[in-house]
Amino acid sequence: MSRSVGLENITMQFGDSVAVRDVNLAIGSGEFFSILGPSGCGKTTLLRMVAGFLEPTRGRVLIGGRDMAGLAADRRPTAMIFQSLALFPLMPVWENIAFGLEARGVPKAERRRRAEELLALIALSGYGDRLPGALSGGQRQRVAIARALAVEPQVLLLDEPLSALDLKLRQHMRAELRALQKQTGVTFIYITHDQSEALAMSDRVAVMKEGLVEQVGTPRALYDDPHTHFVARFVGENNAIPGLVAAVCGDTVAVDTNAGRLTGRAGARLAAGQPATLFVRPEGLRVAGDGEAENRLDAIVEAIDFEGAFGMLRARRGDGERLLAAIPNTGLGQAPAAGAVAGFGFAARDAVVLADG
Ligand code: ATP
Repeated sequence: MSRSVGLENITMQFGDSVAVRDVNLAIGSGEFFSILGPSGCGKTTLLRMVAGFLEPTRGRVLIGGRDMAGLAADRRPTAMIFQSLALFPLMPVWENIAFGLEARGVPKAERRRRAEELLALIALSGYGDRLPGALSGGQRQRVAIARALAVEPQVLLLDEPLSALDLKLRQHMRAELRALQKQTGVTFIYITHDQSEALAMSDRVAVMKEGLVEQVGTPRALYDDPHTHFVARFVGENNAIPGLVAAVCGDTVAVDTNAGRLTGRAGARLAAGQPATLFVRPEGLRVAGDGEAENRLDAIVEAIDFEGAFGMLRARRGDGERLLAAIPNTGLGQAPAAGAVAGFGFAARDAVVLADG
């Protein structure tokens, strides 16, 4: 895959505070790339540097191999979609879509033709003469995307574009956005603090924390093989059990914890005696049999939240730490009730051990 966007040693400093620290990313042409992280970690700042609204304090932004230094936003091969869609309320939908083309001197008949093409792409043919106020939230969202695509950007930058929508619509729009991206082949850089959104849509995700990129990988790799504690906790749910490494055998590690000796896969290079934490996902846990002693965590069940396909069992271990176990719907009938002490077992391959510190 050829490179579409290259960020080389990008740092952004506002006075004394550093919003983005020495970020290096190579984003492929036609890739759906997400930047995921909690509020304030520097996502928007990074995107604004790609768009040309901010010049980095240090480092280079390359698009299609070209250095963007000194190039204003409207000269870059990018388009950006903000949280507030900023459609013009008194302008018909088709003119909203064609707005960027007018600024580029494209004649009216050609603008209309192009708007109709884009309306077809976003499945809103026949809506061109409506005003934005006569569309649903999801439809307005699609118009904003069509407007950004009208100027044929190489790279579309999306800053939490679904955050104003309700959950059902957000989930529906995820699939639509993903399909639209694959259909157009435009590189998408998508910012979100919602890990399920990033996992569902992206080819690859960069996880950011406090201005730094912690890990870049496919959704599957981030979920199955987190490299840091932050990624293990931020991407999906995880149970964390701290301890000391007792032994390392190939890529299997035994950790002595307050729940006894537990084994998992080594998520990093580890040595005996080292403080480390074993992470096991809620779906990696199952209710253990009475005689089952290996890789066992005991806890008092507090509640089971029914979530449709499974029930999320919330429990508390002896040390006061919480434990989450996802019990498939089909097994909920046999699940321990609130107040019961239960054992939860897991396979070593379903746990990852990471060094502390
Ligand atoms: P959110 O998800 O809340 O939008 P974010 O990850 O996009 O957060 P940024 O908006 O990039 O975070 O902000 C990163 C840090 O930089 C924050 O601490 C913010 O206060 C700071 N910051 C952003 N813009 C400026 C600015 N123009 N001047 C000073 N500080 C800024």
